Amino acid sequence: MTERIRCCIPGCGRTFKREAGDAEGVKIMCGRHWRMGDQAMRDRHKQLRKRARWFERRWERRQNAIARSPKLQKFGNAWDRAAAACNALWERIQADVTIKAAFGAEDAPRRRRKEPA
Ligand SMILES: [Zn+2]
Repeated sequence: MTERIRCCIPGCGRTFKREAGDAEGVKIMCGRHWRMGDQAMRDRHKQLRKRARWFERRWERRQNAIARSPKLQKFGNAWDRAAAACNALWERIQADVTIKAAFGAEDAPRRRRKEPA
């Protein structure tokens, strides 16, 4: 396992500290590249991420009750679908940004710097 995780966009030199609990194959995109992604897809991703997090938190808080409930199977399936949709869209955004970066939209916009007055 490498110490740091590179931004998933080829040629990008930014790296991130590996956090405890990160999967071996975890993928990260740096903020500058992320902002090159299609806005509508990023907005949608935010929604899907929120949905997937809802299941995570619910499971953390109510694990015992859910595990004994007849709805366990349904809960698990819905959670899987939410996570899969979120990951699939992330992959599409990655593909979108990879292409843009390769075709010379290379300089991802920085956050606007404050100009001295
Ligand atoms: Zn990057």
